[in-house]
Amino acid sequence: MVQILPENWAVLHLGMIFTLTLAQLLVVYVLSDSLSPPAGLGLFTVYFMAALLGWIAFTLQQGTVTPTGVDVPAVAAILNSYLLFLAAGQRASIQLGRIALGVICLLGCLSVFFLSPQPMYIAQSGLSALFFCAAGLICARRAYSRRNVGDGMIASAALLVVVALPVALYQLLAAENLPLARVITFGAYSWSFVLLVTGFLTSVLIEYQQHLSHLATQDPLTGLLNRRGLDEAMRVSLARAQRQDLPTSAITVDIDHFKNVNDSFGHDTGDQVLRELAAILERMCRASDVVARMGGEEFVVILPDTELTAARSIAERICQTIGQQPLRINQQSIPVTVSLGLASAHGDVNLESLCNQSDSAMHLAKRGGRNRVAAVGSNPVVFSNSPAEAGS
Ligand code: GH3
Ligand code: MG
Ligand code: MG
Repeated sequence: MVQILPENWAVLHLGMIFTLTLAQLLVVYVLSDSLSPPAGLGLFTVYFMAALLGWIAFTLQQGTVTPTGVDVPAVAAILNSYLLFLAAGQRASIQLGRIALGVICLLGCLSVFFLSPQPMYIAQSGLSALFFCAAGLICARRAYSRRNVGDGMIASAALLVVVALPVALYQLLAAENLPLARVITFGAYSWSFVLLVTGFLTSVLIEYQQHLSHLATQDPLTGLLNRRGLDEAMRVSLARAQRQDLPTSAITVDIDHFKNVNDSFGHDTGDQVLRELAAILERMCRASDVVARMGGEEFVVILPDTELTAARSIAERICQTIGQQPLRINQQSIPVTVSLGLASAHGDVNLESLCNQSDSAMHLAKRGGRNRVAAVGSNPVVFSNSPAEAGS
């Protein structure tokens, strides 16, 4: 029979680890544009490189006939697990425990000069398990809060080490089986390293995909949803409105004579007015309402489960709040008014036609004198900008 595994299998193992790490790092660097590199990329790169060095030291040790005085792979294992903890902390923006665990790591590394092989092995296993445990907890928390399965894979890699190292220690101390203990340790580190590499790559890819979909659905100036984001955000509530025959209302909000604001105060101040208006709209709407920027100085608010009369009072409140006192931007007073258009429909609502209707109503409000609310439909009407006067 042909023997598949040659004697120098450790070199083969190193080749696999090396190729996997290199492929992962290449993909991550190609994906990460300089404007928004993946969080923790720096320390994770250092970790992967240091881990490679550790694996190289381990491979060399396998070929060494007479063991060297210092157990380099043991020091590398302690250092690398601490590095993993640092990288996980940087990726999740958590600083807690860096100094305390750093001091413990340093003492662990120095102990290599004083401890004989067996106590050194115990120290290495204990410290690695501690650092992997801390890194695993950080990644599990991040996996949950960011809905990122890649971080979950890193956490499970840490769990593997945290579970396997005590088993290996048991084999050493209770069963006095050092070879088996070493095999378990090697297997755990090796498998967890593969899981770590693929987990980090998965995490970065998921984050990249989330970043792209964020760019595609959000307006960069105001942080509000854009037209596409609005479509996606409304999908669930429109389906519910159709099932239960509920009303849905839309308010189109357009700044009056915004060109004059740009001309008088500058484009940058104009941008700040848009941001401020977006913030006011978000503050004044309910959590169930969706605010979006439709382009230029035009916004839309969609109000699920809301009749036209309720939408009208919200629109009038918005109109008055904005118009009653000038916005304060860069120590300047900028008088701003808005014209608002209302539309409402029941049951199966086509979002585009609802927005078109509220847009037509907004133009009616412009024609009616601006700084007011209007509605179209069977009975087009321009309401006064003061509810006290609004008789219709
Ligand atoms: P109306 O009352 O009829 O709505 O008049 P208006 O001046 O608001 O409307 P018009 O359509 O004539 O001009 C819109 C202006 O909005 C022109 C454009 O420069 C400005 N604008 C569009 N997008 C932006 C933006 O992102 N930032 C800034 N600062 N200005 C913008
Ligand atoms: Mg305008
Ligand atoms: Mg406009």
